Amino acid sequence: MSLLRVNNLRVVFETPYGQVKAVDGVSFEIERGEVVGLVGESGSGKSTLGLSIMKLLPPNARILSGQVIYNGVDLLRLKEDELRKIRGKEISMIFQDPMTTLNPTMRVGEHIAEALMYHYNMDKEEAWRIAKEVLESVGIPAERAMDYPHQMSGGMRQRVMIATAIALKPKLIIADEPTSALDVIVQDHILELLKDLRDRNKASIILITHDLSVTADIADRVLIMYAGRILEVGTVEHIYYHPHHPYTQGLLKSIPKLGSKSELYIIPGSPPDMTNPPSGCRFHPRCPYARGICMKEAPPLVKVEKGHLVACWLYIER
Ligand code: SF4
Repeated sequence: MSLLRVNNLRVVFETPYGQVKAVDGVSFEIERGEVVGLVGESGSGKSTLGLSIMKLLPPNARILSGQVIYNGVDLLRLKEDELRKIRGKEISMIFQDPMTTLNPTMRVGEHIAEALMYHYNMDKEEAWRIAKEVLESVGIPAERAMDYPHQMSGGMRQRVMIATAIALKPKLIIADEPTSALDVIVQDHILELLKDLRDRNKASIILITHDLSVTADIADRVLIMYAGRILEVGTVEHIYYHPHHPYTQGLLKSIPKLGSKSELYIIPGSPPDMTNPPSGCRFHPRCPYARGICMKEAPPLVKVEKGHLVACWLYIER
C-alpha cells in the first residue's frame, strides 16, 4: 500500500474576483521512502495541493471533492483534533519563509521542545536535550537553541524549520520551495539535509518547487503541474531525457546552461487566469502544437511507457 494516495482532489478559493480553481482533479501516489518533485510555475496549484494534504488551507478555500489517503485513512474526513495528532508527528511541512511559521517570541529550541512535549508527553529537560541534538544534526550549534528566530540568518532559520519538521521523525515531509530564498551554497546544504533525512529515517518527501533543476539530484519521480492539473509524471530520467509534454519541454529549455551564450528560453505567454481557465487543455494558448481538439477537450493522463504518464493529445490516438 502506498504511503499517500491523493484521488481526484479539487480545491477552489472564493475571491472577490470569482472562484479560483486552484487544484482540479489531481491524483497521484507516493511510496514509502520515495522523493517526489512537484514542479510548476507560480499559481499552478502546487502549494495549494501541499496545504490540502495537511488540511491547512486558508478560510476562503473549499475542498470540492477528492480523498487524501494517508496510511489507509482519508485525512480530509478527520476532525481537527485528530489531524493535530498527525501533523508534525506523521506528516510535517517546511515552508519557503521560516519567519512566517517560526514564532518570533519563542526561542528556536522551544519550537522543537514544545512539539516533543505535546506529541510524546516528554518532560521538559528531555525535550530540550533532544531539541539541541536535532539542531546540531542540521548544523546549528546547541548553544544557539536559546536564540530567537530574528537573531539568525535566513539559512539558519531555514535549518531550524527543517529541524522542527524532522524532530518527530515524520513519515512524510512536504517541503514547499524550501530553498528558493537561499543562496546556492545554502541551497545545496538544505538539499543534502533532505537527502540525509530520506536515507536515515526512510521518510517520503514531496518537494514543491518552480525550479525543475532542483529536483534533479534528489527526486525519484517528478510531477509536472500546470493550471491546477498534472500534465506529466515520470522518473527524473523520463522527465529530463524524454520529456513528452510541450510544457515540460519548455521548462527544461528554460533552465540556464553553464557556459551557454545563447539567450535564455522563456515559455511564450503567461499562466492563465484561474478564475476563468482556458477550455480543453489548459496549456493550449501557449502551446506551439495546439490543434482543434486541444481547445475543446482536456486530454487524460495516459501511459507512454512504464511509469511515464502524459496528458497531451499528441500522444492519444483518436
Ligand atoms: Fe499542446 Fe494540445 Fe498537447 Fe495541450 S493537448 S499540450 S495544446 S498539443
